[in-house]
Amino acid sequence: MTRAFNFCAGPAALPTAVLAEAQEQLLDWNGRGVSVMEMSHRSPEFVSIATEAEQDLRDLLSISDDYSVLFVQGGASAQFASIPLNLSALGERVDYVNTGTWSSKAIAEASRYADVNIVASAEPNQFTTLPDQASWRCSDNAAYLHYTPNETINGLEFDWVPDVDAPLVADMSSTILSRPVDVSQFGVIYAGAQKNIGPAGLAIVIINKELLGRARQDIPTCMNYKVVAQSNSMYNTPPTLAWYFSGLVFKWIKAQGGLVAMEAINRRKADKLYKAIDTSDFYNNPVALNSRSWMNVPFTLADDRLNSLFVSQADENGLLNLAGHRSVGGMRASIYNAVPEAAVDALVEFMSVFERENG
Ligand SMILES: *Cc1c(COP(=O)(O)O)cnc(C)c1O
Repeated sequence: MTRAFNFCAGPAALPTAVLAEAQEQLLDWNGRGVSVMEMSHRSPEFVSIATEAEQDLRDLLSISDDYSVLFVQGGASAQFASIPLNLSALGERVDYVNTGTWSSKAIAEASRYADVNIVASAEPNQFTTLPDQASWRCSDNAAYLHYTPNETINGLEFDWVPDVDAPLVADMSSTILSRPVDVSQFGVIYAGAQKNIGPAGLAIVIINKELLGRARQDIPTCMNYKVVAQSNSMYNTPPTLAWYFSGLVFKWIKAQGGLVAMEAINRRKADKLYKAIDTSDFYNNPVALNSRSWMNVPFTLADDRLNSLFVSQADENGLLNLAGHRSVGGMRASIYNAVPEAAVDALVEFMSVFERENG
């Protein structure tokens, strides 16, 4: 069996050990003679899988009992609507920070339901520098402030947590579990699973219980955080297979040494890749040094006409999915938790050879 190094932004690489374990259990989970996909979500077997996954996530992020953890469908994009519908009244003021493509999408969706105030935007500098918090124009009475700690497409990441009066809502889709965070600083953290958690089809919402019960009357019932919390994410059928896989990933992260260990590995991986970019005149990354993403590293080549050659030669060398997002072009290496340091080493080596041959 050969596993390629997969730099896909999402759905992204999963740990090989997790896939192997799932494969072993595929036809016969724990001697029950059925697969996880074939179990009732209300069976004791699946409830044990679900409960254990939640507990492992709580352990990893030190999530206190003041927070509910929800396992929901619809991806992070459904949360773009769920957040205003659950946390604000019709037309109520909500604050948003715009640092890239995903914040912009969250803003567009929230604008359908609430009165959005954009407190700060990195658009004037093409999303290469985070707006200093001193310049933010927050509302006096916002129902919440939403921001995107890591912009998956632009490669812009906060290395600080905003300090605001309103409940802080964070779209952590592409950075959750990459390092420790203090959950108590947040009202809501949400993340689509397919970047740094598990397979697509699942999103996780970590919400301060004080924020439950603010939903609008006309919200779809299956999106109502309070209903979902009260039913242990089983108001309707949850994405059981993705939940199971995510549980295996949580155990895998624990076995690596938890988030402190992941942080050290991720920092090393990112440092190596940015160093390769910065020490070369052939490769370039435009993002301010203190705002660079550890998870998604976009870069351009000195000559755009070499892009497709770079991508195809990388692919032939077992380095997959390095083309940048269609909206920004160039290259992008997503180096989530499941992408091993050896993948970054191989990429850096390939980049050096490619530069020598084409630079
Ligand atoms: C991928 C991504 C999304 C969208 O996720 P879907 O599950 O496709 O809806 C939203 N926000 C961020 C930061 C992302 O990386």
